[in-house]
Amino acid sequence: MPEGPEIRRAADSLEAAVKGKPLTSVWFAFPQLQPYAAELVGCTVKHIETRGKALLTHFSNGLTMYSHNQLYGVWRVMAAGETAQTTRVLRVRLETADKAILLYSASDIAMLNADELAAHPFLQRVGPDVLDMSLTCAQVKARLLSPRFCRRQFSGLLLDQAFLAGLGNYLRVEILWQAALAPQHRACDLSDGQLNTLAQAMLEIPRLSYQTRGVVDEKVHHGALFRFKVFHRGGEPCERCGGIIEKTTLSSRPFYWCPGCQE
Ligand SMILES: [Zn+2]
Repeated sequence: MPEGPEIRRAADSLEAAVKGKPLTSVWFAFPQLQPYAAELVGCTVKHIETRGKALLTHFSNGLTMYSHNQLYGVWRVMAAGETAQTTRVLRVRLETADKAILLYSASDIAMLNADELAAHPFLQRVGPDVLDMSLTCAQVKARLLSPRFCRRQFSGLLLDQAFLAGLGNYLRVEILWQAALAPQHRACDLSDGQLNTLAQAMLEIPRLSYQTRGVVDEKVHHGALFRFKVFHRGGEPCERCGGIIEKTTLSSRPFYWCPGCQE
């Protein structure tokens, strides 16, 4: 299951293919979207925003296409005029002079103006995205301490997209290890110092994963690389304290932690 960093990287590759280039051809499978196709020709994709697992494709004419892939939708980048060898059903095709982006299989797609975007039920429900670089530690800390979230255990809270979008299971376990916290804690139980450390980890770890996951050579990257400290490391020694990492299940998902240093 992709988490925020993987979704943002996928959005980056879509942007790299078509952003800022006039659309030469636009095609939608769904009848309710087809009336927009003609008016989008000649417009450009200004920005592709991620909000958790939702993608917002912002066009230069002020419209935004909302799409949510659920478990089965997939975007592809193709050369203009090319079609993918796939049994998936094509739903959206946005083509420029040289590249096209194609959305397959997704069923939750809508074209929205600014007012409809602001009122969209999913977007109203989902929290700020950890890969939105304007989101600060102070804002995350305030959200942790808000009455809505301060009494929720971290095991469930860190998977709840209404709290912060873009976190998922591997980020949940890595953030709690980094903050040296056991998963049953709640924000209302923590000291100010612990809250600061946790809020910082909630932004730093997803952003480091986004920037460097999959990069293997530190000499090439010139900086810290994202590496799993506990995820999929059950039975191995913890690099911080030497304790043995344990695996269990929390909120119906695999959970990894070090009993030696996560208190
Ligand atoms: Zn440890």
